[in-house]
Amino acid sequence: MKPVDASRRFWLGGVATLPLAAALSTTSAPAQARVRTNAHIVIVGSGLGGIASANRLSRQLDGARITIVDKREAHFYQPGWTLVASGLWPAAKTVDSNARYHPAGVEWVKDNVAEFDPVANAIVTEGGQRIGYDFLIVATGCQLNYSAIEGMDTSAIGQNGLGSVYHSIDAASATWTAMDAFRKTGGRAVANMPHTPMKCAGAPIKMAFMLADRLRQAGKLEQTDFTFYSGLGTVFGVPAYNQFILKRFETLGVEVELNQRLTSIDIGSRRATFVSPEGEKTQADYDFIHVVPPMSAPTVVRNSPLAWQEGPFAGGGWLEVDEKTLRHRRFPNVFGLGDVNGTRRGKTAATVKAGVPIVVTHLIEAINGQENSLQFNGYTSCPLITREGSALLVEFDYDGNFVPSIPFIDPMKESYFAWVMKHRMLLPAYRAVLHGRA
Ligand SMILES: Cc1cc2nc3c(=O)[nH]c(=O)nc-3n(C[C@H](O)[C@H](O)[C@H](O)COP(=O)(O)OP(=O)(O)OC[C@H]3O[C@@H](n4cnc5c(N)ncnc54)[C@H](O)[C@@H]3O)c2cc1C
Repeated sequence: MKPVDASRRFWLGGVATLPLAAALSTTSAPAQARVRTNAHIVIVGSGLGGIASANRLSRQLDGARITIVDKREAHFYQPGWTLVASGLWPAAKTVDSNARYHPAGVEWVKDNVAEFDPVANAIVTEGGQRIGYDFLIVATGCQLNYSAIEGMDTSAIGQNGLGSVYHSIDAASATWTAMDAFRKTGGRAVANMPHTPMKCAGAPIKMAFMLADRLRQAGKLEQTDFTFYSGLGTVFGVPAYNQFILKRFETLGVEVELNQRLTSIDIGSRRATFVSPEGEKTQADYDFIHVVPPMSAPTVVRNSPLAWQEGPFAGGGWLEVDEKTLRHRRFPNVFGLGDVNGTRRGKTAATVKAGVPIVVTHLIEAINGQENSLQFNGYTSCPLITREGSALLVEFDYDGNFVPSIPFIDPMKESYFAWVMKHRMLLPAYRAVLHGRA
């Protein structure tokens, strides 16, 4: 990346701190009397939503017992992985430890939940520990179903032109290894997005844009035959952004195939097979492929009474929450946070930031025996990287309306500012959310 000149640095120093400051202050829990309770709150998942809600609750409650259940000790800043996979960040920048962010006094059960028993207000861990609760927050994130793609082997990511940023921090690094090798030659490139709801629906697009940009920088874009396959009839759920992305793909010479699901891959012979809703098969030979798997709620949620039983979210086993309160529709002492929620939109870290105060407020009001009118609008956001040094600040609500948080940023215009947000400012803002301060 080009060095930033002094005047620009001054501009960044003065203006770019505004949204971060906003992130740190505007939704901070107001100074208020702590609510006295002896309620036992169990939080399943020690990712962004789990830790952020634990911090807020421990600050606002006096006497509550808070238990976090999650086997994982490392904490990953997943929004940084597209930067790792594009060769812009070292992987180490996206790894941290969960313990560093847990509030003092919480109990941490280092095991995964194997069963939810909401009728008896209990969970059971893989190790067989049964834990009762008064309130439950489910924040397990979503499950990556690579096994739904026949022939896919996640241990092969980085070899044979195979990339996939979603799988893990190592896969993000390995994706860059494969992409870096490919950009030196160009050739046949393939990228996909699944037909299911997914975390950060912008990430498959960001990876395609960054692949095109890396090829352009290496002078190989024009020699590359690049096709993007979408499992849906669109490439993005908000029509204005869908149009923007399709137009940009056209400018870059990227072909788009809609309603094509990646069903199998032959890693050795570098061939991907896509299937249309009518069952028609298309085979694509490639030199480099970026794979995004179908996603669902984790199996343990999907197989539990907490999952949607019918309707559009039942297939993926997503958590049956009311989209405005994030409270379970059948078990009122259960709340859902983050990617696991079966709501119309909102599987981003930004959604978690906006959702934590909703869940915490409703939970505390429930402890107080009160009803709360706070309603969630489904805020979803991510800076959509369009090339190195440029991004579009995408922000919308459940209905797909723009909900810009920074008045001077045009939601339909790429900017260096949005790029700087992604590249430099979102990690500190993410940490502020973890601490329950944003
Ligand atoms: C490549 C990529 C790029 C992204 N880019 C952006 C972006 O630019 N902007 C943005 O806002 N968001 C982005 N996101 C999305 C963002 O990272 C997620 O929306 C956010 O992390 C969701 O938080 P969560 O708490 O729901 O889940 P997570 O942070 O994923 O945490 C889930 C936790 O639950 C635990 N868990 C799972 N199953 C169990 C179980 N059975 N028992 C106990 N614990 C369990 C896991 O170990 C994990 O610790 C991106 C994600 C990816 C992968």
